[in-house]
Amino acid sequence: MFEHPDFDNHEQVAFHHDKETGLKAIIAVHNTNLGPSLGGCRMWPYASSAEALTDALRLSAGMSYKAAMANIPQGGGKAVIIANPREHKSEMLMHAMGRFVDSFNGRYIIAEDSGISVQDINQMATQTKYASGNHARYSIDENKPDGNPAPSTSFGVFCGIKAAVKYVFNSDMKGKTVAIQGVGNVGLRLARHLHRAGAVLFVSDIYEENLLIAHEELGATIVDNKTIHSLNVDVFAPCALGSAVNENTIETFNTKIIAGAANNQLSNASMDLALMNRQITYVPDYVINAGGIIDIHHQSLDGSSDEKLREQLSNIGNTVLQVLEQAKAQGLPTQQVANKIASTRFS
Ligand code: NAD
Repeated sequence: MFEHPDFDNHEQVAFHHDKETGLKAIIAVHNTNLGPSLGGCRMWPYASSAEALTDALRLSAGMSYKAAMANIPQGGGKAVIIANPREHKSEMLMHAMGRFVDSFNGRYIIAEDSGISVQDINQMATQTKYASGNHARYSIDENKPDGNPAPSTSFGVFCGIKAAVKYVFNSDMKGKTVAIQGVGNVGLRLARHLHRAGAVLFVSDIYEENLLIAHEELGATIVDNKTIHSLNVDVFAPCALGSAVNENTIETFNTKIIAGAANNQLSNASMDLALMNRQITYVPDYVINAGGIIDIHHQSLDGSSDEKLREQLSNIGNTVLQVLEQAKAQGLPTQQVANKIASTRFS
């Protein structure tokens, strides 16, 4: 564990197997200097437990940077459940996960991530009080809020994309082309924001349902998953799982901006410089996708409001701009610049 390439000084990493339900899960707590660790739970049919561990470690570290960058008094943590969310969910499994979370006595607070719904969190919450993202006191969503942070995440990503487009093209979104990889909870909502702002959309996913919604409702062009990243577009928005920018894709991008919701978009740190060398403006993932953690933080604040939540989410655009400007001034890759700002806050 201590020699793992993604160890990164994690405070605590726990593995759990519940024989009765078959739950296999990992919780990784990266850093709690700014507050209890907070981060979503990902449910995914990982090919191996080594792959799941790497994901948990990288995701939880990302949460420390994300909270610090968004000025949220939380630490970074993350959970993964090794199973297929479309086949292996049960109430008992979620109860077992809730008990696992409870064993951290508040050092880790769970929320949604890919594969985990509000209903799942509600089921975990019967076993632990350290569950979030299942009640909304404040919301920017005109539809009935159920506590899912995805609406706030997608709005924050939208604000970040607008800021990057303004920075690179000195333009608004009207007529700008955006390729969205993954139209799930966040990607589809992001597509709606972009459509309303006049963008032209291309979408891909491994499942058909939301692709058809994006096509019929928003006029999006459905694109093969294997080619979406190489489309000639203004913005490529990774909104699926990690590593959209990797050794195989780096030379194939045909875009000026990469900015999306997915966590851990760079397969490794060297991709940051590689993007800069290709003159592609990369908006660091944890800077632009902080809307979820901002949302969850506001739900715990007495005296917040829909307006205050919206204001802090909109501010993601300003933070993106600061990072892009500093990177340009210093001649450094954007993630390197963001990492320095964030890590000085939580170290
Ligand atoms: P989701 O599971 O609802 O959506 C992910 C979508 O990507 C799904 O539709 C899935 O079918 C698709 N997908 C998976 N693999 C793919 C591939 N190889 N190519 C194309 N599509 C693929 O998850 P989500 O909540 O929308 O989160 C999306 C990303 O944003 C994740 O990386 C998540 O960690 C990150 N994120 C989410 C939130 C949030 O509030 N939900 C907050 C911050 C970051």
